[in-house]
Amino acid sequence: MTERLYLSGPDVGVVERAAILRAFDSGWIAPVGPDLTAFEAELSEITGWPGSVALSSGTAALHLALLAVGVGDGDDVLVPTATFVASANAVRYVGARPCFIDSESASWNMSPELLERELADRARSNRLPTAVIVVDLYGQCADYDQIVPICRAYDVPIVEDAAESLGATHRDRPAGTLGDIGVFSFNGNKIVTTSGGGAIITPTAVVADRIRHLATQARVTARHFEHDEVGYNYRLSNLLAALGRAQLSRLTEMSERRRAISDAYRAALDSRARGAADVPDDETVEFMPIAPWGEWNGWLTCAIVGSTQRRDDLIRALGAVDIESRPLWKPMHLQPAYRDVPALVDGTAERLFDRGICLPSGSALSDADVERVIATASAALGPAGVAQ
Ligand SMILES: *Cc1c(COP(=O)(O)O)cnc(C)c1O
Repeated sequence: MTERLYLSGPDVGVVERAAILRAFDSGWIAPVGPDLTAFEAELSEITGWPGSVALSSGTAALHLALLAVGVGDGDDVLVPTATFVASANAVRYVGARPCFIDSESASWNMSPELLERELADRARSNRLPTAVIVVDLYGQCADYDQIVPICRAYDVPIVEDAAESLGATHRDRPAGTLGDIGVFSFNGNKIVTTSGGGAIITPTAVVADRIRHLATQARVTARHFEHDEVGYNYRLSNLLAALGRAQLSRLTEMSERRRAISDAYRAALDSRARGAADVPDDETVEFMPIAPWGEWNGWLTCAIVGSTQRRDDLIRALGAVDIESRPLWKPMHLQPAYRDVPALVDGTAERLFDRGICLPSGSALSDADVERVIATASAALGPAGVAQ
């Protein structure tokens, strides 16, 4: 009997168990406590931004980040179409309307070219968006060398959805600090998990204080319950923050492991790269390009297979031996929930969705697990490129 292999299973063990028990025994079962405060301080240390607020999910963090940059009823927000649905849903939560922008091919993140075209169009008709959400997809930063100056030129703030990219960098700057406010997720499948959780980081403590206030029902200091605006119950609990601290202490190690797993897939299937000798088009595999502007955190190894048929066969073959794999994110402009939303697309995200696959990438996978994925994938991809 072999064990089921997951796409991005949690990597938790003795360090995490001890941290939770310590927090439990300390008596700080209440939502706030010393581990929560320390977790936020550690996030600030990692990112270099003084304002951090730990929250109950990445989605809650996106919601409050949009409020913090002033997005409200009737506003427009540009969002990449290639993302997880939470990026778009948060826009709806504040009564605004998303408009989707397609990806570029160097990192699969938001296309600066399409972004600029959309902003120029909107500037001409006085319809500039209130914010742009830039997502760092699959553990890799977007092209901020281009995106930041474009957004600055139109004076539109950037909300960086770094939910998948904690620990990645762009020209030595940590993911989360490339825009005006950054969001992380600590969901069970993310690189660092608190089982469920998220965070916001900002360069100013005042903004962080305002977010913390909104996240705790907007309660003001008084003997009775006094609330100066409509708030939310979005704080992370102290117990989960203890788990988060243990995970953060292993972030470098876990990123290295995920990148090593990705390198193993790339090395084993490299002879199938497009253009390699004797590989029929439909048996090719193109891995997500790693753009030269930064280091990725290895979150998910993704690739484009030569044809949709071949990709579907591959997912089926892996599933038959209990290995989880999935297509890439279905573009938002194709989602029933966002049917009527405007989109500036050129087919890139649709191609990624039609032929893309995410392979098991969790840092707890053993070398033998990775070998099992490679052997099954090689057989399913067809005879070309199989080592002689
Ligand atoms: C996971 C994820 C989120 C949401 O985070 P949760 O903690 O699951 O709410 C938002 N955006 C992206 C890009 C994600 O991958």
